[in-house]
Amino acid sequence: MRGRIGPASRFRRGRRLSTDTRCGVGAVLLTLWPGRTWPPDATDANLGRLSNVIYLDHNATTPIAPEVLEAMMPFLTTEWGNPSSSYRFGSNLRSAIARARGQVASLIGASPSEVFFTGCGTESNNAAINAALKAAPEKREIVTSAVEHSSVLNQCMALEREGYRVTYLPVDRNGLLRVADIESAITQRTAVVSLMWANNETGVLFPVEMIGCVCRERGVLFHCDAVQAAGKLPVDVRQVGADYLSLTGHKLNAPKGVGAIYVRRTAPFSPLLHGGHQEGGRRGGTENVALIIGMGKGADLARASVAEYAGRVRSLRDMLEGGITERVPDSEVNGDKAFRLGNTTNISFKGVASDALLLLLDGEGVCASSGSACLADSDEPSHVLRAMKPETGGSREAIRLSCGITNNEVEIQSAIVTVELAVQALREVGMASGGTC
Ligand code: PLP
Repeated sequence: MRGRIGPASRFRRGRRLSTDTRCGVGAVLLTLWPGRTWPPDATDANLGRLSNVIYLDHNATTPIAPEVLEAMMPFLTTEWGNPSSSYRFGSNLRSAIARARGQVASLIGASPSEVFFTGCGTESNNAAINAALKAAPEKREIVTSAVEHSSVLNQCMALEREGYRVTYLPVDRNGLLRVADIESAITQRTAVVSLMWANNETGVLFPVEMIGCVCRERGVLFHCDAVQAAGKLPVDVRQVGADYLSLTGHKLNAPKGVGAIYVRRTAPFSPLLHGGHQEGGRRGGTENVALIIGMGKGADLARASVAEYAGRVRSLRDMLEGGITERVPDSEVNGDKAFRLGNTTNISFKGVASDALLLLLDGEGVCASSGSACLADSDEPSHVLRAMKPETGGSREAIRLSCGITNNEVEIQSAIVTVELAVQALREVGMASGGTC
């Protein structure tokens, strides 16, 4: 054990909350941990001890690998020039960017000329859909799914307001998509099919190779959001048959604020950001050299860690999921168990509010989330779980735990016990989900 997970008694069992104290999870924390203040501030010792954190939220973001930081450092210190400059200073940077482009291309089986850097996965998704629509202005329809990341869903909703017709394909109770539904949704007016490879909340995989085949047969452009898949699964753009594929640095042990997009050599592309001739005129703006170098290095490391995700990380996830569901009554795994990422589990705890549970876990140093990190500060229930199990209204009783290469068995065993005790404590204080406060 890491030595910081407190004894079971920290979750004061049997303490009942009065109705008015149930009006917020902060109040529950106060009741459970007398002597602490709410909201916690920077001086709170528990929040400061990052080295003691059990980080189980790798689908939200990943820690920067030391090798990545080391590769970036020269470009934050001595190599600070502008890559567009004609003197040597510039050409050195251009070579470094070219190397990073090659590293990202190798991760996904593309040629370097088909990869360009963006500011994030969100931008890559927006740029791909935008490019497909611009290429065929007469085609006013988009096919996507109800469980995409908000960067695709919110762009599609904005496009609907501009008069585009969007089909949001349903998924079944396990989060799986039927290829037949895609076939019947495509019409003569479909400009692009945009579907994710791996779901960020449940890890459930879509059959991207089959989707690629369908799109090719029907002559429709295919955009694949591979932000969660890359680095966790082998990704080969030729096999997938995607015209566009999105990636982001911060899921690859590289920094936030850099992404990449693959654009197949024959696929149409017009930039989202108009500006200088950077990135071959496909994305204006002076390149963020250090972050690009970091993403390149992250992609390089990810090629080696794919096997670890398939083996060791998958075993840790199985241990975590098995341990929790065995020890916690009325817990249920959301998402198809066979067809999903090896690192992710999404578990509902009947009658337990996920935001309260997450706060208790945070207090014990276990980092998890209730779904997409981008929506963590919204009150919205999960659109992914709502699409899978409409009768739950998008459960507020589920948490996502996502393992990564830095986790180990000791952490997983600690996390199992912590989740068990936290759920038990919340059930005992009657912190039911869906309260009226
Ligand atoms: N697509 C998926 C599936 C994601 O999980 C995320 C981020 O979590 C994104 C896109 C957006 O990536 P970024 O945070 O780099 O904008």
